[in-house]
Amino acid sequence: MPYMPCTVDELPSLKVLIAAPRGFCAGVDRAIQIVELALERFGAPVYVRHEIVHNRFVVERLRGLGAIFVDELDEVPDDRPVVFSAHGVPKSVPAAAQTRGLTYVDATCPLVSKVHRQAQRLIEEGRHILFIGHAGHPEVIGTFGQVPTGSITLVETVEDAEVVAVPGTENLAFLTQTTLSVDDTAAIVEALKRRFPSIRAPRSEDICYATSNRQAAVKAIAAECDRMLVIGAPNSSNSLRLAEVAERLGVPGRLIERGSDIDWDWLGQPATVGITAGASAPEVLVREVVDALRTRFDVHEEEAEHSPERMIFKLPRELVSDRAA
Ligand code: SF4
Repeated sequence: MPYMPCTVDELPSLKVLIAAPRGFCAGVDRAIQIVELALERFGAPVYVRHEIVHNRFVVERLRGLGAIFVDELDEVPDDRPVVFSAHGVPKSVPAAAQTRGLTYVDATCPLVSKVHRQAQRLIEEGRHILFIGHAGHPEVIGTFGQVPTGSITLVETVEDAEVVAVPGTENLAFLTQTTLSVDDTAAIVEALKRRFPSIRAPRSEDICYATSNRQAAVKAIAAECDRMLVIGAPNSSNSLRLAEVAERLGVPGRLIERGSDIDWDWLGQPATVGITAGASAPEVLVREVVDALRTRFDVHEEEAEHSPERMIFKLPRELVSDRAA
């Protein structure tokens, strides 16, 4: 038989429902711009402590522009600038940079810095902090590094909240990582409030606007979807939470980094696939996933209704002063 190419008419029909908002948040956008501006200002190479955001495509692009990613400050030469990642760093890191006379730019998201300031204030008030978050996440390490050892205790689950031991029940407060599941956190907070009725809550929600909005956007489209593809890195907390949100609503969800990661057997022949992207995943990867679906389906694409996000964070003065002048 001669080779007969498939025509679009022969491909099964697939509705692709794209969640909104999705992808880059204001903190990620700012952190990437900081590295780009630092490269413009200081020339290459600019060192970056840790992945600037949790996405290897973003990291690779910046590497191509002249950024060098390192794990620790002692890998940075004395004569080169260093940028700290969006997740925030323990106080000891800028202190060590100052001691060495390094030029550094802090790309910590302003919403993470807000949590740092809250933590410091609570300790000044003599409170012990119960911090809801995930062990080992750089944001948690950064926040713990703002306060004296022993003054903050990690609570990861409702089970932890039920048994956590505290130095006293009167002077307690809780704070949270910015990229948690809204629903899980509510259950943990409920358990803490039940055990410690006088525990001080943060003045405003610590789970950031971008995390909450992306989870709400998945909830809004889940009922229509047979499968949910979440674009994001396996170490991206907010992306992992998006896949969990879909699963909990009964929609099988998969976290994928790019189009070639789609597991076609798992995907099967759905009528509707939802797509979203974590706060550190660029839109180009959403397009790549849609294009991959087009190779097997006759895709009808639709973006979910949404209220646009307008959040923008100011860039550090030291990088934009010339531009403003
Ligand atoms: S996810 Fe939230 S806290 Fe994290 S960088 Fe984005 S805006 Fe900031």
